[in-house]
Amino acid sequence: MARRKLVVGNWKMNGLRAHLPQIAAIGEEAAAYPSVETGLCVPATLITMANEVKGAAFIGGQDCHAKGNGAHTGCLAADMLKEAGATWVIVGHSERRADQGETDSDVAGKALAAHAQGLKVILCVGESLEIRDSGEALSFVLAQLEASLPEGAASDWLSIAYEPVWCIGTGRIPTMDQIADMHGSIRNALVQRIGDDGNAMRILYGGSVNAANAAEVFAVADVDGGLVGGASLKVESFGPIIAAAAA
Ligand code: PEP
Repeated sequence: MARRKLVVGNWKMNGLRAHLPQIAAIGEEAAAYPSVETGLCVPATLITMANEVKGAAFIGGQDCHAKGNGAHTGCLAADMLKEAGATWVIVGHSERRADQGETDSDVAGKALAAHAQGLKVILCVGESLEIRDSGEALSFVLAQLEASLPEGAASDWLSIAYEPVWCIGTGRIPTMDQIADMHGSIRNALVQRIGDDGNAMRILYGGSVNAANAAEVFAVADVDGGLVGGASLKVESFGPIIAAAAA
């Protein structure tokens, strides 16, 4: 099944007004490769400003709360992201699972809250190095997927990002065989869970994607694009990744 490639930058806790020209340049690059859906998930403080310069890129947030409002100091509800101008949001990033103790059921709740506001969702899963070394990566990730994927998940609003924790920001990536194995297993699990629409759901790879390895990674079966951290901060490094997805 043909799936449009999706390349999304995760700016994490990086980005001030001074970085808007980079967003504008990335938006221009996105326009040059219309076969690829390109976006940037920026800090919430930048969403409104980023929207003004985003060109052909979409702007997303990096997390939302599962509840609509209330006593949750420092948190953001999905409708707040939407009002600021976000059209997408990442949920379940491993840094939030580790730093904020987010559970699989929290992640499923966040995805549903985002969907209820019309936001598209990138739901992250991935194993630690300890789990990879123990030989349990496949079963761990499939269990995480099963428990994090909300009821009613569908390919027109939700994509999966497989992000091995040991590859995030480390410069390491799995072998292409390991990526193919994991993405193929996630694909099978999606089809089992949601039926044929599982074949249409995009599965991104994330973890140290860069200009040098993007083409090889994106050529792997069932890799439908990438979630990119460090290399998405500058058009010089992100542009070639978008181009690789278009090739
Ligand atoms: C990420 O944090 O989602 C990520 C993939 O980071 P990096 O590309 O820097 O490894």
